Amino acid sequence: MAASEPPEPPPRSPVSRPVTARVPAKVNVQLAVGGLRPDGFHDLANVFLAVGLHDEVTAAPADALRITVEGADAAQVPLDRTNLAARAARALAERYGIEPGVHLHIAKDIPVAGGMAGGSADAAGALLACDALWGTQAPRAELLEICAELGSDIPFSLVGGVALGRGRGELLTPLETGGAFHWVFAVADGGLSTPAVYRECDRLREASGTGASAADVPDPEPSRALLDALRTGDATALAAAVSNDLQPAALSLRPALADTLRAGADAGALASLVSGSGPTCAFLAKGPEAAQAVATGLAASGTCRTVRVTSGPVPGARLVHA
Ligand code: ATP
Repeated sequence: MAASEPPEPPPRSPVSRPVTARVPAKVNVQLAVGGLRPDGFHDLANVFLAVGLHDEVTAAPADALRITVEGADAAQVPLDRTNLAARAARALAERYGIEPGVHLHIAKDIPVAGGMAGGSADAAGALLACDALWGTQAPRAELLEICAELGSDIPFSLVGGVALGRGRGELLTPLETGGAFHWVFAVADGGLSTPAVYRECDRLREASGTGASAADVPDPEPSRALLDALRTGDATALAAAVSNDLQPAALSLRPALADTLRAGADAGALASLVSGSGPTCAFLAKGPEAAQAVATGLAASGTCRTVRVTSGPVPGARLVHA
């Protein structure tokens, strides 16, 4: 007897109450940057790890698209069409031929322009929340496609956990991990523009005589030692293997970050590195007590605005059920 097709799920209808999505920040435990491609991007071997700082995006029915933001960095977030959450909502609405009538409220806990993919988190959260609000029921693959069109880091915000990003970071392979890692983040005053940090990376490569184009720079490859350390959950081995090719550029644009990195190392961090394009600095600690000691040392050093203690990997964007 031929197997019968499973019945189609009934079409989901829009809901009239607000829907909230919770989305994590990320740290790049490896960020290997290839040469500048003719299209202006760089090929990457980008190992993302989602950590427990979250933004929450709430989508509520409205006559037109509107954004509000709360949180310490709220004033730095654009409220116009350029907001990544607004762009995500419009992209989903366009695909389904519907009006993007939605009020998006962002409760922002991820530092803005901090190298922790806060804008990407809001885009992934808006997509998930609007999908539920409008009943569009977009397949996961389609949500990931919209994410990749909107920005290189956005697919990871949806997926979370730990993943290797190839291409410009958007081609994701989830990775296994053997346990939780303990992190401390030193949040800086003011942000750094990601494109400006990539330009500085290219400038430093030109100035050093190696050249900055794809023909001059070796293809970026994931580190075997790093993948092994993640798989076994070995914090000491992970600390020995972390790397960030954007760190010299971030330090060149913001030399004071060297003091922050040193303060964390002096306070006992196993590894100190700039998170992505910075200026947030990330510190890996042996366990929860060591993380508290690193946080105390950083706070006392006066080399950063705020200190956050957390762990990861954590899951990607999720709907929050009231
Ligand atoms: P990444 O780590 O992905 O390079 P980032 O964490 O350094 O990014 P974001 O917080 O994503 O930086 O912000 C980068 C810029 O994007 C901000 O300066 C801001 O102008 C713009 N932006 C647009 N939408 C948002 C949003 N929802 N939240 C924060 N910034 C946004």
